[in-house]
Amino acid sequence: MNILILGAGYAGLRAALDLDSMLRERNGSAPPASITLLDQNPYHQLVQELHLTATAAIHTREAIIEFERILRRRSLVLLRQGRASRIEPLQRQVLLDDGTALAYDWLIIALGAQTSYGNVPGAREHSFALRTFDEAIRLRDHIRNCFAEAAKTSDETEKRRFVTVAIVGGGYTGCQFAGEMAAWAPQLSEEFGLARNEARIALLDRSPVLLKQFGQWATAEAERVLDRRGVSVYLNTAVERVEPGALYVSEGRVLRAKTIVWAGGIRGPALLAEAGLPTDQFGRVLVDRYLRVQNQARVFAAGDCAAIPDQGNGTVPATASYAMRQGSHMAETIVAELEGRAPAVYEPLKLGELVSLGPNDGVGDPLGFRVYGPPALLMKKGIEAWYRSTLE
Ligand SMILES: Cc1cc2nc3c(=O)[nH]c(=O)nc-3n(C[C@H](O)[C@H](O)[C@H](O)COP(=O)(O)OP(=O)(O)OC[C@H]3O[C@@H](n4cnc5c(N)ncnc54)[C@H](O)[C@@H]3O)c2cc1C
Repeated sequence: MNILILGAGYAGLRAALDLDSMLRERNGSAPPASITLLDQNPYHQLVQELHLTATAAIHTREAIIEFERILRRRSLVLLRQGRASRIEPLQRQVLLDDGTALAYDWLIIALGAQTSYGNVPGAREHSFALRTFDEAIRLRDHIRNCFAEAAKTSDETEKRRFVTVAIVGGGYTGCQFAGEMAAWAPQLSEEFGLARNEARIALLDRSPVLLKQFGQWATAEAERVLDRRGVSVYLNTAVERVEPGALYVSEGRVLRAKTIVWAGGIRGPALLAEAGLPTDQFGRVLVDRYLRVQNQARVFAAGDCAAIPDQGNGTVPATASYAMRQGSHMAETIVAELEGRAPAVYEPLKLGELVSLGPNDGVGDPLGFRVYGPPALLMKKGIEAWYRSTLE
């Protein structure tokens, strides 16, 4: 039996590691199975730390771990580096960019999401995304160059544009990046001989709240902290078009910034719909309560690329913590089916979420308790450290 896993992010890697442990534990009592883990990179990205990479708050390679290191004691997992370009469910195979076909008996789709630009003209072309390690490095280097250029010009208007960073989207990515950027900007200014308060950071969201998933109290806290750090928050502000160095927003207003970061939403990878799999309006593949792709007996999907029903209440949030638990669930389901047992229904475990708002602040609702400030940040760092430890 070949189990093929597409994507080794939070969901796919967890599924591979759990399958490896469960199948080795059974030591031959389960039918023999091979696990192929496909990823386009040779490393696992700690996506929930990428805003730190993008603002030089951590060392360059701290937010990635080489798969070789993670998998050295995982004898059943075969790592395959390559880019999936086409899924062919009828032929039970996946085609890679280089033309190779990978056959499967069981398929796990865990390809994550892509940045969604919501049909805003110019957004894709003239902004920076922050979803991958490469994007984080590109953004970091661009910002540093902008501050260097600002130091060289005597034109005050031009200087201001170089040191202005506009962030579109007040969710996890936008808020966390804004908090770190607010801490990095004075350091950069000092490094390049600019006034410490010269930089401008603007965070825009079309909705009336930041961090929608937490509710009004977290919005208020995030706004308060970001405001204190010098971030200008513009709510109810829709971006209508983007041009090089300029954001055109509601009521004909223009915000000029050499750095525009697009954190305005996500959508599933195009290859899901192209494969004829059922998808929602955001291009995420539709799965049932077992995380099984609708009408596909042996195809599962989870994480950001899947639309997973949340007990009659929309879909499960796209976060790393849910993705990981879904990865474990898919592994359990496949082992149950290999052994001829009935699989369990996936119940989203609501343990709460935490976000950082700069190097000393955070906000969150772990186990339903509201936490703020340094304790929230400490808890988040603790969870990230625990996650790393599960990969060693
Ligand atoms: C800056 C930022 C901060 C965040 N902070 C938090 C946080 O604090 N807490 C939290 O819970 N969530 C956070 N999130 C959200 C969280 O990171 C995602 O929900 C999580 O990464 C989803 O996991 P996943 O496995 O679905 O996808 P990913 O982790 O994105 O993994 C997808 C994998 O698929 C691979 N892949 C993609 N396409 C292909 C292809 N065609 N062929 C081969 N391989 C491919 C990628 O290389 C990647 O390894 C944050 C997100 C961002 C961007």
